[in-house]
Amino acid sequence: MIERLGSGLCAGVILLLLLAWPAHAQTTAEPATVAMKAEAVAADTWFVQGESAIGTPGNQNFISNAGFVITPAGVLVVDALGSPALAERLLALIRAHTSAPLRYVVVTHCHADHIYGLQALKAAGARIIAHTACREYLASDTARLRLQASRTELFPWIDQNTQLTGADQWLGEGGDAADLVLTLGARRFRVRHAGPAHTAEDLIVFDEQTHVLFAGDIVFRGRIPFVGQADSGRWIQALDLVLKLEPRLVVPGHGPVSTDPARDLKLTRDYLVFLREVMGQAARDMEPFDEAYARIDWSRFADVPLFAAANRMNAYNTYLLMEHEAR
Ligand SMILES: [Zn+2]
Repeated sequence: MIERLGSGLCAGVILLLLLAWPAHAQTTAEPATVAMKAEAVAADTWFVQGESAIGTPGNQNFISNAGFVITPAGVLVVDALGSPALAERLLALIRAHTSAPLRYVVVTHCHADHIYGLQALKAAGARIIAHTACREYLASDTARLRLQASRTELFPWIDQNTQLTGADQWLGEGGDAADLVLTLGARRFRVRHAGPAHTAEDLIVFDEQTHVLFAGDIVFRGRIPFVGQADSGRWIQALDLVLKLEPRLVVPGHGPVSTDPARDLKLTRDYLVFLREVMGQAARDMEPFDEAYARIDWSRFADVPLFAAANRMNAYNTYLLMEHEAR
């Protein structure tokens, strides 16, 4: 009896626990199954290109780019993609080319689609380098709530096992230099702090040998940029910094590589300039945002992918920024 009661009782307790356990708490080690291929862009240099879209369980949050350079002294990776599973796929692509050790991951900025894969690259031995402004973001409620939401919106690719991963080296920490030269054998990479632009922590990576520049989200290709809380005035300056480096080829944070940076950076630059012009005028005239937005001719950019999804929020954030700048 007691026994029966005992075993019956504990079965009951287990059942209750299972029912109480939130469904998306169970974890999954499913490998990412989206199409991902490493495209060669220069000597020993490859990148993977994510979809120009908003992250969904369907595209497994593969919506951003990452790159890697293989040297005899080890591998440098730029950005970590939008989930641990995607970063595992990236690792497998690297391993298809080399057994050299993973030495560094440079994080261009701490938006979810560029950092949720970091834990997998760290586990593979990489030293993570990011700008100190990223540290503040990772410690913020915004980052915590973003991850929490992603655990539901992007389950099972983002789940309870997905963690925010800090850097091993924070550039600009305590007023230290925010630029760095990374050497791997004879290969030298210039890591430059280009923020605050798209984010406060924007880092770009310039390969002195191939003149390939990994620009992160300073450069969006083939879609309307995500402006968010960006400092668009500094972003335009950052684009000019990129052009001054005279890169032969730019790997953007989103979209295809650019073999004609001057031409291809033009879309992002012109869009930011236009937003500042029209929203700046509206703010100075104290014209209500909705009226201004409806009045403005957006036809120049209306056919660019993700215009419908991103433009209104970009315009509104720029309106607030221009109000602030006008004070
Ligand atoms: Zn971004």
